[in-house]
Amino acid sequence: MEIDPTRMCELLVGLPDIDVVGVADPTPGRLVVVVAARETRPVCGRCSTAGWVKDRREVDLVDLPAFDQTVTLRVVRTRWCCPRLRCGIGSWTLEHPGIAPAGHRLTTRAGRWACEQVGRWGRSVAEVADALGCDWHTVNDAVIAYGEALLDADGDRIGVVRALSLDETLFVREGRWRTQRWSTQMVDARNGQLLDVVAGRTADAPARWLEARDPTWRARIQWAVMDLSGPYRATFDTMLPHATQVADPFHVVKLAGSKLDECRRRVQNETLGHRGHKADPLYRCRRLLLAAEERLDRKGDAKLQGLLRAGDPKGEVAYAWHAKEAVRFLYDIPNPDFATRYLDELAKDLQDREFPPEVRSLGRTLKRWRNQIVAWHRSRATNGPAEAVNNLIKRVKRVAFGFRKFRHYRIRSLLYAGRPNWDLLATITPR
Ligand SMILES: [Zn+2]
Repeated sequence: MEIDPTRMCELLVGLPDIDVVGVADPTPGRLVVVVAARETRPVCGRCSTAGWVKDRREVDLVDLPAFDQTVTLRVVRTRWCCPRLRCGIGSWTLEHPGIAPAGHRLTTRAGRWACEQVGRWGRSVAEVADALGCDWHTVNDAVIAYGEALLDADGDRIGVVRALSLDETLFVREGRWRTQRWSTQMVDARNGQLLDVVAGRTADAPARWLEARDPTWRARIQWAVMDLSGPYRATFDTMLPHATQVADPFHVVKLAGSKLDECRRRVQNETLGHRGHKADPLYRCRRLLLAAEERLDRKGDAKLQGLLRAGDPKGEVAYAWHAKEAVRFLYDIPNPDFATRYLDELAKDLQDREFPPEVRSLGRTLKRWRNQIVAWHRSRATNGPAEAVNNLIKRVKRVAFGFRKFRHYRIRSLLYAGRPNWDLLATITPR
């Protein structure tokens, strides 16, 4: 089968309504394809006279790689003008969003591809820029522009949510003092979809987001999942008063672990007068202490007991360790009523005056959050999926070497963990 050479070039380039003018002198590793968009003579927007060609200019666009070479698409653009001198409209060019949106440096197909590589598959901007043979900013701008347009177009992304979880993430350390900037993520706790990210970890930011939702959407949320933090509790109190609040087990166990750590460091300081050194018995057992009891083999258990005997004269760290294990056991109780009774007794016991201050503090917190903690046994709505989302976001942050702009961080997080409908990407053009 024979195809005429002109048609063959068009097939190879694969863009609609263009003429392939030629291929520039070869540079190693880089292919420069010169094309012109097919345009029918436009009429003047002011006086409707048929336009004249004023001049032609070449614009270089970054296209997808081909034949193991990076590709520059050199587009010959016609500038049109009005032949009537008195009209005064000046010159104009016609837009070809099928080739590239106005002002973009990537072709439309390269922009979409870059957005999916970085946004969906979590590749780094630098890696994709390298594959396209262009600079970092060109790719990053495209990822954000196409990503934002995709999220805007995807009106069905957020469906019915039965269990909503709020969780905080450190989004960047900024400036000379490495000031921490936080964000709050909203996650569907049943399926682990990231719904959105807002700046800050106060009660207001997620409250404003919830306020912007449809009231019927809010009304369907039965479970409001959170860590043991006051601000998110306030958010749920005001915005979702009908929902049952649930303290996420991960954070409850984590709190017990950090109280144990606090206790170990204090005892260390009191007995030896300095912070943990490599050789100190308590410092050496810090990991063993945090490990779950059933994961310690006999050797680990013996080592732990030995180190505690050596470094914990009053047995305070041992108390804190037992308290942590007792908190963990709460989540092995399947029956909600038994769990409630167990928690009530545990919270009371831990506040006993003979226990170290860290254990008593843990007891008070358990009492204060009692209803939210035992609600888990009825809802089984955990922040587990939220934690999984957190890990996805951490991956995005690692790949991005930290974000400076919250907007970029939000879009990248939603592209990676928010489950947008990627089928829409082929239909969208950024503004
Ligand atoms: Zn005119």
